[in-house]
Amino acid sequence: MAFTETYRCDVCGKPRGDAEDWWLAWSERAAPVPGAPEQQLLKFTPWNILLSHAPEVKHLCGARCAQTLMDRWMRGEQMRML
Ligand SMILES: [Zn+2]
Repeated sequence: MAFTETYRCDVCGKPRGDAEDWWLAWSERAAPVPGAPEQQLLKFTPWNILLSHAPEVKHLCGARCAQTLMDRWMRGEQMRML
């Protein structure tokens, strides 16, 4: 039997349809320039089925929900959101 997964947008809760172009987002600490202090970064990347399983990755149905996630992150809710 085929194993099917249903992903839901972590912002609006919409289920992902087959082959929809969704996005993934996560937050991590990294130095933008070698030798610089590490900063908290918010990253977006196009949907990737392998990355979508990572526990820290958020699933986003489109730019609107990505914007909402970014707004929350910039208001300092990243520890709760991501
Ligand atoms: Zn959404």
